[in-house]
Amino acid sequence: MAAQRSQGTGGSALFAVARRFADHLVKEHLGTHNGLDGHPIVETALVELYRETGDDPYLRLASQFVEQRGHGLIGDSGFGSRYLQDHLPVREANQLSGHAVRALYLEAGIVDLATETGDTELLAGSAVRWEDMVSAKTCLTGSVGSRHSGESFGDRFELPPDRAYNETCASIASFQWSWRLLLATGDGKYADLMERTLYNGFAAATSTEGDQFFYVNPLQRRADHLEGDEPGRRRRWYSCACCPPNIMRTFASLEYYLAAASGDILHLHHFTGAQVSTSLAGGVLALDMVTDYPWSSTVTLRVTAVPPAECGLAIRVPGWSSNPKFLLNDAPVAATVQHGYLVIRRRWQPGDVITCDFAAVPRLTYPSRRIDALRGTVAIERGPLVYCAEQADQPAGLDLEDLAVHPGELRDREATIPGVGATVLVEASAAALPPVTGPGLPYGSGHAEQPGEDPVIVTAIPYFQWDNRDGAAMRVWIPLADVASQPPSSAQTAEQTD
Ligand SMILES: [Zn+2]
Repeated sequence: MAAQRSQGTGGSALFAVARRFADHLVKEHLGTHNGLDGHPIVETALVELYRETGDDPYLRLASQFVEQRGHGLIGDSGFGSRYLQDHLPVREANQLSGHAVRALYLEAGIVDLATETGDTELLAGSAVRWEDMVSAKTCLTGSVGSRHSGESFGDRFELPPDRAYNETCASIASFQWSWRLLLATGDGKYADLMERTLYNGFAAATSTEGDQFFYVNPLQRRADHLEGDEPGRRRRWYSCACCPPNIMRTFASLEYYLAAASGDILHLHHFTGAQVSTSLAGGVLALDMVTDYPWSSTVTLRVTAVPPAECGLAIRVPGWSSNPKFLLNDAPVAATVQHGYLVIRRRWQPGDVITCDFAAVPRLTYPSRRIDALRGTVAIERGPLVYCAEQADQPAGLDLEDLAVHPGELRDREATIPGVGATVLVEASAAALPPVTGPGLPYGSGHAEQPGEDPVIVTAIPYFQWDNRDGAAMRVWIPLADVASQPPSSAQTAEQTD
């Protein structure tokens, strides 16, 4: 932060304080085995200080702190070595485990270090662990760290919607790690996860009013839910207050994540109203970005300043966009997408306009069969936004837990809701299941539940806007209506065609 402050202001008293502290760490630790901090985070700071000052000891100390993990130097805090990321040397680990925030801050430091030293083995190892996280340990909202116990990663595919821990700081740490991998590799899949995490897991942490926060971000809350003596709603503050200030510094730095220049190409990673300007190809390439993203998925880029030579503009095509369309000065552009980016290379002219339409329409998302906790359910997404159903939006007299979605067409509509504000709701056809009542075990020998004959509508709201009203039930993953009431499968259709 001090380095960023220094970059913004050309030096500050705070930067001098940070440097004195880092110099103290170098004096006490560099070249020794005097122990390690139980909570990785200093690694990224040391590399950033090296970048700012060029002083090699900061980089060497970051390297030492990374390489010394996994050798039992931290000791036993009572939570075990995995919790502290001290269970394996970094170069031997191929999975993420232990305390999620610690693990992800360490990964961000590892990528920073690999980037500055050119250590391809270190970088490749971090990318392998990122794939482990994304393929089996990440919620639909981008949130990570599924276990309350130890605030930790769970087993592969252990992703319960109701008991997901999903600390807000873990979303932020994941965002920081993916950003570094994006810069190191240029692969848009890292920006895709950043976007998913930003608009969903991270954005949901803050209330619409901006004065209350979630520490834990589950994907389901039942009507009778309690955390201790409380119903698990956002709070104004926490005794362990890591998340609210972490949210603030992330909001304050969002502009730095929008774009990056590499060689003679300007990469646009994320979309929002902005003016982007950079030096390349012997001049300045500047453009205005106009969009109502994420509500609308149309992005207009108007070039305002150009360098004298030809150069490239790389526009990320979001992974969710199945049919993106691009116009350059009203003429269609063939969308050849590489590593998640459409690259247009030309001699730009002031006034050139690129229009991108990523076609955000509501869609159903199905979970991997390996996620036992989600079997038989479906979620709704629209563009980069994950949706959830809150009790407040469902038909009067129907319990959210008794609604089951029919796969089929979804409809979206704009709305303004007191307490929530402007939004886009999505409606799906659903069945009302009979209420679960009566004594005895909640198990039986048959599949007795038959949905009601009359279809009802289930209404979904963006997940980031949940819990701004009555504190009632919410769920992201909604049961699918009985298979018998679904349309014929594609296999049956093929038989009929034959
Ligand atoms: Zn936190």
